[in-house]
Amino acid sequence: MNENSRMPGLLEGKNALILGVANRWSLAYAIAEAFKREGARLWLAYQGERQRQTVEILAEELGTRRLLACDVTQEADLEQLRQALRSQADPLHAVVHSIAFARREDLARPFIETSQEGFLLAQHVSAYSLVAVARAVAPLMPEGGSITTLSYLGAVRVVPNYNVMGVAKAALEACVRYLAADLGPQGIRVNAISAGPIKTASARAIKDFASVLDAVAERAPLRRNTDPAEVADAAVLLASELGRGLTGNILFVDAGFQIMGI
Ligand code: NAP
Repeated sequence: MNENSRMPGLLEGKNALILGVANRWSLAYAIAEAFKREGARLWLAYQGERQRQTVEILAEELGTRRLLACDVTQEADLEQLRQALRSQADPLHAVVHSIAFARREDLARPFIETSQEGFLLAQHVSAYSLVAVARAVAPLMPEGGSITTLSYLGAVRVVPNYNVMGVAKAALEACVRYLAADLGPQGIRVNAISAGPIKTASARAIKDFASVLDAVAERAPLRRNTDPAEVADAAVLLASELGRGLTGNILFVDAGFQIMGI
């Protein structure tokens, strides 16, 4: 196929902000690759100085120089993000929030031992930050658009060691519904992808994560684990015109594991 016969990408002409790129294994990176393939103009946001060098290399590969440091727990960082995006004058069409954090010890000991501090930290970074990000970006989306976050089955079922993060994901999924109701009249859709377990830096913090991968490969209807590219393609769907009727949804991309009883 020559350049002239190339089909337009599903995100051609769209400006997209992707938060949560830490390294090549981040789901946010897989999503950025898919958005680039579909023609989106990318902004990438990462937490802070520690990731800057890595993210600069990844951004170059993705053909973007639009990089922003943003710790989502810091209102000043969110304000800077908003100002940087606003200074471009281009409307924003798609935002992906691919961010979560809980203390390693809270992902290893019984849930009942979760400290107040650990509980609130997980809620702040993993759930409230979606609200804060949505508030910062919604005024930059005058043409409407899509906000997508990443959740996991531990929001609605007990998954060993997921603990405090499961409770944070339950809050995140509720935030998706309330934000979808608030922002729907502006044409902004809000959804979550509930991804199957995938080996990433965050996942490695969960005790016995390998046994979760094994259980999925053995019992999921598709008898395998989830590929990051499948999550990324679902994110393209939600951000594109194809997803125009979808809001307030939790879309499972997990090889079907969540439907299984025993
Ligand atoms: P990841 O690469 O570690 O991504 C998590 C991202 O959150 C990192 O970029 C991390 O930055 C960022 N982050 C943490 N605290 C932050 C803060 N205060 N401000 C800004 N960014 C912050 O792991 P991932 O698996 O791709 O996770 C992405 C999302 O997918 C998360 O919401 C996760 O819960 C969800 N998810 C993952 C799986 C899985 O099995 N991997 C399954 C379902 C859902 P630092 O690295 O700098 O801390």
